[in-house]
Amino acid sequence: MPQTDTKKIFKAGEIIMKQGDDGDCAFIIEDGLVEIEIEKEGQEPIVVGTRGKNAMIGEMALVDNAPRTATIRALKDCKMLEITKDDFSKRLKDADPILRMTIQVILTRYRDTLTRADISKENNNWPPAEQVEQGYSDHSDAIDIVRIANEFQSALNNDETTLYYQPIVNMTDGSIAGFEALMRWENAEQGFISPAVFIPIVEETGLILKASQWALKESCAALKRIEKETKFKHKLFMSVNFTSDDFTSEDFMGSVYEAISVTDLRPEQVHIEITERILMDQPDSARETLEMCQKAGMSIAIDDFGTGYSSLSYLHYFPIDTLKIDRSFVVDMQKNDTSMALIQSIVALCKNMNMKIIAEGIETKEEAHILRDLGCEMAQGFYFAKPMPEEEVIDFSIKNKTINF
Ligand code: C2E
Ligand code: CA
Ligand code: CA
Repeated sequence: MPQTDTKKIFKAGEIIMKQGDDGDCAFIIEDGLVEIEIEKEGQEPIVVGTRGKNAMIGEMALVDNAPRTATIRALKDCKMLEITKDDFSKRLKDADPILRMTIQVILTRYRDTLTRADISKENNNWPPAEQVEQGYSDHSDAIDIVRIANEFQSALNNDETTLYYQPIVNMTDGSIAGFEALMRWENAEQGFISPAVFIPIVEETGLILKASQWALKESCAALKRIEKETKFKHKLFMSVNFTSDDFTSEDFMGSVYEAISVTDLRPEQVHIEITERILMDQPDSARETLEMCQKAGMSIAIDDFGTGYSSLSYLHYFPIDTLKIDRSFVVDMQKNDTSMALIQSIVALCKNMNMKIIAEGIETKEEAHILRDLGCEMAQGFYFAKPMPEEEVIDFSIKNKTINF
């Protein structure tokens, strides 16, 4: 339990915190009034202000170990809510790294400015801010995030991102049914950066919308070229990943329609992949968008199925065509009965609800056979094919129209 609800009572006249003492908490004044007093060496203390209901006092102790810079005394009986340093540290640790860095920098600089202002009054000289500008290595995660977001933006503008395509195989006969488009980014300095790293960062910025639009258009155009080169008799599909922000953006439907019409694909050839989280976060708007997609003929797949915290009952609420069983269950199924039982339940559920299943992350022949025998219609994994650039996937598909497994 967080300790912000620890209540403390101070009687009128009582000192709540004393200048120079170590501080390990801040207070929110739930009720009462306090005065703040600062004492300079050799001088009489001066009152610099009062604070009342809902004000926070002693907050700087939460971010550093310097002594209290003022004495605070209760003017009336005060009821306080305590925020301990431990509680604050935990919250800060869980906060977004950029938010964390900004809070720490602002508060540290604030304290430093006060200290240096004091020194300057004494010796008419503003001392340099060396101390405070140290310690940014503590924030290396925040710096990495900002760097990646900035560099990704220019990569996107300069065509330095690309898409790989991973075949999705029909389990009944080993034929290639379609592909999943997966983003790739090779950074000049850091080399290859995994989408598992940059997508969550890009998601936090508004950039994901632009990235997704690009991926959608590019992968639809690629599918048209793949079809032309490979001359499959059946229609292939392209599965594209979308995030929560894409899904709730106003021009989502417009951009999907445009990508389909520009490339002259059939809507059924475009599969929209989203995670359970999107459905749980915004069920009503997600349902509306999914219904529009489905009405337009597109197919909807739930990615990483089984890893979310949703109840199965929500599946009835959304128009879903396919569930993609997460790789973690496939990896585990031969040694873990629960994973196997879960896969069996998902397969049964899909059959009952008339949904298709794609098993993800198949790496061995054995896994492929088990999943086929359990009734999975489609599969995707390194055992069949890794994600490949367009030319390679065309080559691969021409040579492996049907994969023996
Ligand atoms: P995901 O959508 O679950 O994509 C499948 C991931 O599993 C891909 O990783 C793929 O390379 C990997 N994979 C496929 N088969 C196997 C296998 O047999 N074994 C193992 N170990 N891995 C396999 P990748 O390409 O690194 O992408 C990671 C994640 O990044 C994706 O997971 C997806 O969440 C996200 N992502 C990738 N491209 C995009 C994109 O264009 N838009 C969005 N929103 N997210 C993307
Ligand atoms: Ca996916
Ligand atoms: Ca997945």
